[in-house]
Amino acid sequence: MLHIAPRLHRIQPSPSSMAGQRARALRAQGRDILGLTAGEPDFDTPDHIREAAVRAMAAGQTRYTDVGGTPALREAIAHKFRAENGLDYGVNEIIVGTGAKQVIFNALMCTVAEGDEVIVPAPYWVSYPDVVRLAGGVPVFVEGPEALGFKLQPADLERAITPRTRWLVLNSPNNPSGATYCAAELAALADVLERHPHVWVLTDDIYEHLIYDGAAFATIAQVAPALKARTLTVNGVSKAYAMTGWRIGYGAGPAQLIQAMVKLQSQSTSGANAIAQAAAVAALTGPQDFVAQSRRIFQERRDTVLQALNAIDGLHCHRPQGAFYLFASCSALWGLRTPQGTPIRSSDDWILHLLESENLAALQGSAYGVGTHFRISFAAGTDELLEGCRRIARARASLVA
Ligand code: PLP
Repeated sequence: MLHIAPRLHRIQPSPSSMAGQRARALRAQGRDILGLTAGEPDFDTPDHIREAAVRAMAAGQTRYTDVGGTPALREAIAHKFRAENGLDYGVNEIIVGTGAKQVIFNALMCTVAEGDEVIVPAPYWVSYPDVVRLAGGVPVFVEGPEALGFKLQPADLERAITPRTRWLVLNSPNNPSGATYCAAELAALADVLERHPHVWVLTDDIYEHLIYDGAAFATIAQVAPALKARTLTVNGVSKAYAMTGWRIGYGAGPAQLIQAMVKLQSQSTSGANAIAQAAAVAALTGPQDFVAQSRRIFQERRDTVLQALNAIDGLHCHRPQGAFYLFASCSALWGLRTPQGTPIRSSDDWILHLLESENLAALQGSAYGVGTHFRISFAAGTDELLEGCRRIARARASLVA
């Protein structure tokens, strides 16, 4: 008999991966499933990046690399932090991992002990709480009020801190809400953190370049240099360069933390894929017009879908400032019934109704810690997005009191 270790019972499969799988399975059964669950750009990786990978293979860069990343990539990352974020990191303060997800996993596994607390502002990316739990820690959720853009408020942060708090996780722009903290908002959070020197900050900046309406990106180690010595700044190439499948992410922070993460990585993956690391160098150091162009396209799509969604009776969505998701409230539908008589009492019920009645796959807000909402991704073509909104409108119209 197979024994699954108890630590695995503390976590759930990633809801977004499961939703993708469910949509693929239904499609295989012949159903016309429209999936608006994607957590990845629908563009191809730019040619110059792919060509760099081909060149790397031809040049024989096909062996193990340094566990923490090739010197060339770590230097490119150091340069990116200096040029784009005004942050100085040496190569010994940088780790490359198999996606930002692995970098976050490494950091939490290295630092969170049984019973340690990690403050996770809600709504949150689905993986933070489960990685904390896997490490034996306790996620402490603090909801950012929707009226204040779903952002963590300094007084709420202060109240959530205890002697067991190890980390605050920040994610801006945020998945799923698109909430994007400006420099002043980060400075206000930093004021609180400066009073609590035992609390470290893990900032997940993976959507840095997908920021709209001309807003300026800010990250906490830059805004509050006093916190840099206890901040891990995580980023990657997945979203900015349409490179999700290449699996390259990185983190920068104090050398002692990075060293611990490299040690853990040496006993798990041995380091990220060599060819993908060469491609990531090309992404970070090559032409950046792809980034500006995808930002423009995503902003247009956001506006199109936002308008269509907000025109549907009972749904309400704020305007996200970044990332590529709409996180809409559906709680006005609670109490209505499907034509089959099933009551809608939660975002899970609403999501199931969308799938059953209109073959539309979206994600329930409960997966992100806010059960009154649901998430759709606008990383899809405009026709698909508009068709998605038509299906959502029909699903809404089919509900009866
Ligand atoms: N962080 C957030 C907030 C994300 O939404 C995602 C992907 O959906 C990741 C990290 C994972 O990024 P990567 O592909 O680099 O592992």
